Amino acid sequence: MLRPDPVAVGIDLGGTKVEACLVDGGRKVLARERNPSEPGLGRERVVANILRLIADTAGGRPLGAVGLGTPGTYDPADDIMYGAPHTPLYEKPGLISLLRSELTVPLVVENDANCLALAEYFEPGRERHASVMAVILGTGMGAGLILDRRLYRGARGNAGEIGHATIDFNGRPCECGRRGCAEAYLSGPSLSRRFAELSGEKIPPHEIYLRFEKGDPLAKGFFEETFLIMGEVFANAVNILDIEAIILGGGVSNIPLWYERVPPYLRKGLFGVPGRDIPILKARLGDSAGVIGAAYLALKQMGLMDF
Ligand SMILES: [Zn+2]
Repeated sequence: MLRPDPVAVGIDLGGTKVEACLVDGGRKVLARERNPSEPGLGRERVVANILRLIADTAGGRPLGAVGLGTPGTYDPADDIMYGAPHTPLYEKPGLISLLRSELTVPLVVENDANCLALAEYFEPGRERHASVMAVILGTGMGAGLILDRRLYRGARGNAGEIGHATIDFNGRPCECGRRGCAEAYLSGPSLSRRFAELSGEKIPPHEIYLRFEKGDPLAKGFFEETFLIMGEVFANAVNILDIEAIILGGGVSNIPLWYERVPPYLRKGLFGVPGRDIPILKARLGDSAGVIGAAYLALKQMGLMDF
């Protein structure tokens, strides 16, 4: 009897949930599941939750590899994640190596923004852009880079940390300890905090947007300033990397204003070759981008994708 072709599992490990998807060699999603990740119960529990999810998703089919995406920077030299302030357990040594030791197939680990970049870059039609930056705007702000059709990790896997590029070194304090980081202006919690300072009311970004739509002058002024900040931050990235498009994912990306209103500011900040139009595109895969990108890591490990 013919053995079925091996499949790959992608895992998106977050602070509250862990999600898995099963894909075949042609990148078709065959199954998806999610469970609580329970980092409060310790790393053995998190690993057990991941292993159960892998087994449930694979449903007995032969696995070729597992890809895992999670916030922070994965450093292969130490086999741990760095800079994941919202998920401190994942930063401690041991979680990744414990998971690796429990698996019988290779495990590939990557930053969740890199997974977003991969998943979105391989969406139909997007291949016309050889170099893109995919930004996660949510609790924090991070980015993944595809440069000349390759995932660019940098020397220590730390490339794309645009959320911690400063726009004002006397500016707002950031969770990382520095001042004026883009994240301190543009992440979901930062948007709410900045608006609260103007209005005295702390409301989620989507509600600020609804007020903008109703013509609230405070919300209008707030967004105009935010378009300028975002445009400047993205122009810096384009000036350094000469990317062709920016893709936005994460909860804050659901505000539709960014796609029309930020590009004029971005354009004003560009240096060099004239006439470039850098589109800001909404992530198509929504919440699923991370887990699908993680599955692509596994497919690459199996020799079935190239990036
Ligand atoms: Zn910072």
